[in-house]
Amino acid sequence: MSAGNPVLLVTGGSRGIGASVCRLAASEGWQVAVNYASNADAAEAVVSEIRANGGSAVAIEGDVGTELGLAAIFSALDATFGRLDGMVNNAGITGLLQRLDEISVERLERMFAVNAIGSIRCAQEAVRRMSTRHGGKGGSIVNVSSMAAVIGGAGQYVDYAATKGAIESFTVGLAREVAAEGIRVNAVRPGIIDTDIHIASGTPDRAREMASSIPMQRPGTADEVAKAILYLISDAASYVTGAVLNVSGGR
Ligand code: NAP
Repeated sequence: MSAGNPVLLVTGGSRGIGASVCRLAASEGWQVAVNYASNADAAEAVVSEIRANGGSAVAIEGDVGTELGLAAIFSALDATFGRLDGMVNNAGITGLLQRLDEISVERLERMFAVNAIGSIRCAQEAVRRMSTRHGGKGGSIVNVSSMAAVIGGAGQYVDYAATKGAIESFTVGLAREVAAEGIRVNAVRPGIIDTDIHIASGTPDRAREMASSIPMQRPGTADEVAKAILYLISDAASYVTGAVLNVSGGR
């Protein structure tokens, strides 16, 4: 890999919002680590597209919801690039639309392991590599929350909403903790975005079906969220930290 260009790790970079972030970041000169959990073909497709356009990318397998997966991600990152300049904590899962009294403890544990603890652990590993306190050169982290953190997900997925609430508190706290160590930490709060995540909720057409409840009368696209993330990760946001940016069409 070329030593010069900055390196961005995007968790869940193989599909949806994460894939858009990878493509856009590569077009802006980042070397991109495209993390995925299980769909290697999707990750390799993103990598091939980036390379075909003259960019630099590598697919890295690893489940952010397990310690084994986290170890695999960061050892591959270190071996391939030997540096880290930015990270987007994008990997996330939902579940079937259920009330709390129907939700299993296995689902609860997995939701928090991936969305909350996984993001916090990835940020921890990033801080260990980027903080000037640890000999790093600084960097930027963007966490992907959800409007569900504010609305609460009643009758649909209060557990998912709670994981995103955790991410928002974490964003504010970590931003203050590492602000003097060259690291900025921000979050985006997408509304209803047209990706495959809605298949896991049992409502594949959710984004289009919800259009009339969104002030802008349409779901957002993965590219629209990616542009907000790229702004926060870039030097254009050099004095922005601890912020949570709504990307929700007014929802
Ligand atoms: P998506 O289309 O379902 O894509 C999810 C991505 O995350 C895939 O690349 C997937 O890889 C990866 N992933 C899932 N579990 C993982 C794990 N344990 N470890 C590593 N990677 C994992 O989802 P999306 O709609 O783009 O959502 C991305 C983020 O935006 C999530 O945090 C989600 O909560 C948030 N968000 C989405 C919406 C929306 O309406 N779409 C709204 C608000 C917030 P594999 O294919 O290999 O599993």
